[in-house]
Parts: sequence; C-alpha cells; structure tokens
Amino acid sequence: MTMVGPEIADQTRLLRLLRDGPRSRVELADALGLPRARFAAEVDRLTTQGLVETAGPAASRGGRRSSLLRMAGQVRFGAVVVGDGRLEVALTDGELTLLTRYAEPLDVRVGPEAAVSRAVEVLGKLRAEAGLAKLAGVGVALPGPVTVRAGAPAVAPALPGWHQFPVRDTIAAELGCPVQVDNDANVMALGELHAGTGRAFDDFLYVKLGNAVGCGLILDGALYRGAASGAGDVGHLPLAEDGPLCGCGQTGCLEAYCGDAALVREAVTAARAGRSTALGDRLAATGPLTTADVGRAVTDGDPVAQTLVRDAARRLGQVVVSLVSFVNPAIVIIGGAAPGIGPVLLAEIRGVVYRRSTPLATGSMPIVLSDLDDRAALIGGARLISDQVFAAC
Ligand SMILES: [Zn+2]
Repeated sequence: MTMVGPEIADQTRLLRLLRDGPRSRVELADALGLPRARFAAEVDRLTTQGLVETAGPAASRGGRRSSLLRMAGQVRFGAVVVGDGRLEVALTDGELTLLTRYAEPLDVRVGPEAAVSRAVEVLGKLRAEAGLAKLAGVGVALPGPVTVRAGAPAVAPALPGWHQFPVRDTIAAELGCPVQVDNDANVMALGELHAGTGRAFDDFLYVKLGNAVGCGLILDGALYRGAASGAGDVGHLPLAEDGPLCGCGQTGCLEAYCGDAALVREAVTAARAGRSTALGDRLAATGPLTTADVGRAVTDGDPVAQTLVRDAARRLGQVVVSLVSFVNPAIVIIGGAAPGIGPVLLAEIRGVVYRRSTPLATGSMPIVLSDLDDRAALIGGARLISDQVFAAC
C-alpha cells in the first residue's frame, strides 16, 4: 500500500476540487485550509506536472483580486466501455466533460485479446487526433465482476473466455499511462456521482439494467467495492429455486427475470403464441426482437409488452426492497433500460418498494431514472481513473 503524505493529500484534494470546475486561488486555499505560501507551493508543483493552469482573474470579492485556477487544458482521460454488444471509447478533459466519443459493434466472444487490442487502437487514434503524446489515464468498464486489484475480469457469464485476462496491464503497457478496470455498474455509479443526479448525494444505489444486471454502491461519497470488489453483484441473486435458466448456469437468478435476454425471450414467446399483435408484427417484419422493439411496443401501448416489463420490474423491485432496507440510501438511480421501458419499469419498482419497505428507509427516498443515459459509463470511466491518478500525484 502506498503511503500518502500530507502534501500529497492536499494535492489530491486540490485536483479533486478543480475536477468540478475552475475556482479562485483564494477559495481553494480556504477550502484546503492551507497557509498562502504552502498553497502556492502545491499549485506550483501541480503546474509543473502539467495538471493545473491559471485561467485569468477571478470575479472580485473586494480587496485584492484573486486569479482562477483550473485543470490544465491538455489533460485528457480515456474511457472504454465494453458490453451490450458494443465497444465505446471516449476522451474527456480534466473536468471529465466528454469531448469525443466513438462506438462500434463488439461481440465479446471474439475474446479479450481482440477486443482490448481494438480498444487500444481506437484510443490511440483519438489521442493522435487530439494532438497528444500521452493520456493522463484510462478507465475501463466491463459487463461483469472485476478483480480490481488484479485489473482483470472474474468469472462472468457475460464475458466468456475473459477470466483473469490482464485488461488493465495490457492497455497500460500499450498506451504508457495508468489504467483502472471495474465492473460497469460500479463505473456508472461513479458517473452519476460526478455528473448525474447522484452528484447531490453521498449515499446512493445505482441499479444497472441491460444484458447484465448489477448495482453500484456509493457510500459516504465513495464507491464501495467490498473485500474482493464483488459488492453490488446482484444479477445472480437467487429469486426462485425453479425459475428460468440463467446465463450463469443456475436457475431463477434476478438477471434471468429482468436482464435484456429474459425480456426478449418473453417477448418472442408472446409474439409466437399470438398474444401480442404488436410484437408479432415486429417479429415477422424485422426478425429477432430486441429490447428496443419491446420498448417501442410499450410506448405504443401494447398491453402484453407492458405486462412483460411490469413482471420484470416487480422482481427487480423485490431485490431493491432488500437493498434499501440493508443500505438505507438517500436515493436509488436506475439506468440502462431501453428507451420506452424506463417509465413503466420505474412506476412498478416504485410501487413495490414504497409498499414493502419500512418508512424509515424510504420516507424521503426518491427512485429515479438516470439522467445521464449512455454517458454514465463513459464519464464514470474517466472518474474511476482520475481518482487514482489524482491520488498518486
Ligand atoms: Zn445467474
């Protein structure tokens, strides 16, 4: 474990404050509680490292005018998101604002070597286009549990053949910058903490839907990973002994009821049985159904599609009831639902949770859909690595 001295802790706090936007020197020195000379020395050190720069005079508060400091303009973090059939890559500035993003289809069954090498190639291209020799760091989100200490995926049904592949070390060696890898629900929770609804809360649950279902836990303003970075891996919680078969080989897991594959499976069954004209027509017209098709049918008012989503949401709601009682979050944020599905899903989850939880846990606890859409994982990836980079300055 790295020992962090008081100067380094001050620099970390300074960088984390500037990550939220420019601030005047006076405000920063006050916020850090540092004498002016010491503060100036820390700023000089960070300026020399190319992390901080002066951004002109601050608005006058009377007396001597202060100058503004901000993250240096050339700081760029990379974010890589793998999952739901896609590879997404983005660059952010030092305040973690998305600057460029790129996406292409990716079947994770091509294996980790091919997928990681493609991610490195795209990152290298975006870096070159930005005219940079080096990125400040790269954060990677994977659709399954990750052994964060090893920077590699644990066994995950959503990532066949990826077990223990050194994702972190491979990308770090190729790009020559720090890299951190984590589970996508954790990364999305960090995105919410930085730029979404979660910004206003120190304790919240981020529930992630999609092919893989998971949960990111923010406690006391920081991501909680647990002893082996497996906290929040709720997709394979058993809900029934004899439920539907799950991708993990077990039956009755949460994901087997409300993952994308489960929704699509139920939609196809309903379409083939002639129970839903909307889904039946879509199946005949476009071939295999997707969650987007289910979402469209829900929006068009198809009662069968709405019932499918409500049934899935009820199962998820039951799990959220337990999580809320256990953790007592200030808010629950739900992300990753296909367009059209969110509102019906949310209404049902709210119904279950408010009906079944204790007033102490849910008295003033909102349950909302994420307002970051598909940006949560990219911003969260940048947040993940910036936390590490800033702590090491
Ligand atoms: Zn399972």
